[in-house]
Amino acid sequence: MAMIACSRCRKQISSEATACRHCGRTFNSDGSASKPRRKRSFAVHYLLSMVLAVAGAAIYISAITGTEMSPYLVAAAPVMGIGGTLWYVAARIMAYIV
Ligand SMILES: [Zn+2]
Repeated sequence: MAMIACSRCRKQISSEATACRHCGRTFNSDGSASKPRRKRSFAVHYLLSMVLAVAGAAIYISAITGTEMSPYLVAAAPVMGIGGTLWYVAARIMAYIV
């Protein structure tokens, strides 16, 4: 947890604080406080979409290399792989637009 100077009173406050405890200035409206939060939510999308795509690819590769598994899982694997990839691309585009 880093300490930063309040933009109004210049006193040291936590970088994670939503309001200055010295002068009461809130940081919700200045934009810089909400941006990292938005980026973090997209990081979750990147992670989940990549896990989905990799899991789909892993199941598909296992199936074509002869591993016995449920035909439903084999049918779902390309959907997971393509869906995960499209989800990842969509999240990247959304992160770029926002
Ligand atoms: Zn302050």
